[in-house]
Amino acid sequence: MTERNSDDSRRKVLKGAALGLAAAAAAGSRAKAADPTMSAENGAPPLSDPAKRYTDGPFQAQPQPWPGLASRMSPRPDHGETSYRGSGRMAGRKALVTGGDSGLGRAAAIAIAREGADVAISYLPAEEEDAKEVMDLIRSAGRKAVALPGDIRSEKFCQKLVANAARELGGLDCLINCAGRQHYHESILDLTTEDFDWTLKTNLYALFWIIKAAIPHMPPGSSIVNTSSTNAYNPSEILVDYSITKAGIADLTKSLAKQLVPKGIRVNAVAPGPFWTALQVSGGQPMSAVEKFGSTVPLKRPGQPAEIAPLYVQLASTDGSYLTGQIFGATGGTGIPG
Ligand code: NAD
Ligand code: MG
Repeated sequence: MTERNSDDSRRKVLKGAALGLAAAAAAGSRAKAADPTMSAENGAPPLSDPAKRYTDGPFQAQPQPWPGLASRMSPRPDHGETSYRGSGRMAGRKALVTGGDSGLGRAAAIAIAREGADVAISYLPAEEEDAKEVMDLIRSAGRKAVALPGDIRSEKFCQKLVANAARELGGLDCLINCAGRQHYHESILDLTTEDFDWTLKTNLYALFWIIKAAIPHMPPGSSIVNTSSTNAYNPSEILVDYSITKAGIADLTKSLAKQLVPKGIRVNAVAPGPFWTALQVSGGQPMSAVEKFGSTVPLKRPGQPAEIAPLYVQLASTDGSYLTGQIFGATGGTGIPG
């Protein structure tokens, strides 16, 4: 992604007050004006009303074939490309991020690379275009980037994925599981066995296979961060299969955290509310829901992936040493999980 494209997409996604601040930033420093949410003085985001920090839509109907590309979304999601600033919190760490091409996984991959980690990302071959951008961003943070495309519904691939990540990175001490499938069905009568199986294979079986393969590589101090959902606690009526898997991920997280204490490996999960990502426009929601995406939470807008990246960093880094077996919500004010 060129700097200009990145600027343009940031400008589209930001609105209102944040855009006013852009002018002030521009007056102070040309470089810092590249990101309108940054203050010119110290690179920190200026105080702003969280409800107005990013767009609340309405969003265009924009159906994409699964698995969807972040680069084709309008507005383009903000994954922290121009804003995330690291401070060495993960210096020298070796991380695998599944689903690292787009959405929450991409935001986590960018953030941990800027915190000093070498990063392998997994994604589907159809997502090469998005993945290439992330690879470039990891490299421009001065870190090693490893691309591992393939389908995690295969146990063999999951084992190969982890083995290749550990070999290329020279070890593995951080696993961030973001890959996931969300496909809505208005009625359980339309939910086929094939669909049900697809969702469970992607969200639960693959997690099981990848974690199982990763543990033998992980020294004490390592961290696993899973991605559950608000749907684990307040399941949508059109996401029956998906909600089961996200509740399963929350339970797996708590159970495994207790089991892995003797190995010194922490296990936590994030539970996001509505985030503006490719998964939502490629079958995750009906287009009528995409148009008003995020409007039902108290902040009345979707989160942008950049807004959850610091949570992944906190859980993955040694700063989170007393955090294990916990599920952390980022749900726009719903209080879930509570
Ligand atoms: P996303 O589409 O950007 O990321 C999901 C990624 O999963 C894809 O990029 C793809 O690489 C990967 N994936 C899917 N099927 C795969 C397969 N068979 N093999 C290999 N990789 C596969 O969307 P996102 O919203 O960033 O999703 C990341 C995680 O966040 C998912 O687990 C999702 O369930 C969860 N989540 C998202 C939201 C939201 O509102 N966006 C809310 C709660 C939870
Ligand atoms: Mg993707």
